[in-house]
Amino acid sequence: MRTKIAAIAIAFVAVAVVPAARAQVTSSRGQRLLANDHEVKHVIVMVADGMGLADVTAARIRKNGISGPSLRFETLDEVGYQRTYSQKNTVTDSAAAASAWACGEKFVNDEVCLHGDGRPNNPNLLQLAMAEGWAAGIVSTQTITNATPAAFGAHVGNRDCESEIARQYVEVTRPDVILGGGRNTFTGAVPDLCGNWGNYVAEAMGSGYTYVVNRDQLQAAVIGNARRLLGLFKGGYMTPEIMRSPTSTEPHLSEMTAAALATLDRINDRFFVMIEGAAIDLANHVEWLDAQVAEVSAFDDAVGVVLDWIDASEERRQHTLLIVLVDHETGGFALMGTEVAGAEPLGFFTGGWTFVMPPPTTPLVVAGHTGTDTMIWSQGPGSEALGKAIDNTTIYEVVKAVLR
Ligand SMILES: [Zn+2]
Repeated sequence: MRTKIAAIAIAFVAVAVVPAARAQVTSSRGQRLLANDHEVKHVIVMVADGMGLADVTAARIRKNGISGPSLRFETLDEVGYQRTYSQKNTVTDSAAAASAWACGEKFVNDEVCLHGDGRPNNPNLLQLAMAEGWAAGIVSTQTITNATPAAFGAHVGNRDCESEIARQYVEVTRPDVILGGGRNTFTGAVPDLCGNWGNYVAEAMGSGYTYVVNRDQLQAAVIGNARRLLGLFKGGYMTPEIMRSPTSTEPHLSEMTAAALATLDRINDRFFVMIEGAAIDLANHVEWLDAQVAEVSAFDDAVGVVLDWIDASEERRQHTLLIVLVDHETGGFALMGTEVAGAEPLGFFTGGWTFVMPPPTTPLVVAGHTGTDTMIWSQGPGSEALGKAIDNTTIYEVVKAVLR
């Protein structure tokens, strides 16, 4: 979801920051290594859509207490933050923000790695990885054709071209693992904004993808050594955690993450994967604290799966670049209390959102995105360039430098 706000034209100056770690040496095998001798074999990009730093504080207090341990993603070695403005707006949408990471330039809101003014665009990071022979995957709790994953697998002029995005996944980009919601956009019977529709599930199955629609089928496909995996677990976006029944057959983000890692690691000793917790954004759009906390917690569980996977071997520890990113803040969330000494129990707070947009444009969307800078947590070779204040396009430069 995104909110249209009156455009404030921002003069765009591309600032490409080249990380110091790009200097390379040659190993005895003739492979180029990073200067730190830790050649990167796995790049794992995890996106917490719409999560401000206050959301992190709220989830940590609710989960671990006011002085309790950090969330898993807070334990990463490098902590930085990024500017998020898009080509024409102070406040970005998910499409322009993800395109800045995936394709290395500022884009106009709604554009997915395709400039509307005809300028050529870079191939996205997933395509660069696959061109180097790496396996690749995209995972999201949104429709998998939604803006954030789309920037890593497609080039379209508008994010609402979701059937066209599905077509590009299946016919052009062909990531090895595709997991999320969005069954309807893969089997669309009416044209999308680009005039496209079709049954891309049937096409994917015909070209080697194992297709699954629930948790049991997903786990069976992993155990059965599927080489290409298409999982579409709901017609639209996957059910937010707080609304799921105990008998839900939709896999959690942590379960999709485990399935993606197992599959990608089995088919190739190098892989790139983007994993998105999308419903933090949805919770902030509707200003629902319990839902927000549940989604940050579920996202942290997925980061925990990744960290446990990395820590299972020294080889993975040395050769995995993990980056946890936020595309934009949503709603202007803050923790509030009275400040009167001892007036409320330590750890108590009320949640408030600064974004008020009366009247609501739809019954669901209350708040919009904000233009505040967003967090970056990272670890592994290459992450030294991310523990500082950077522009979101710098993510592209850093990852591109290690995809070799
Ligand atoms: Zn949003």
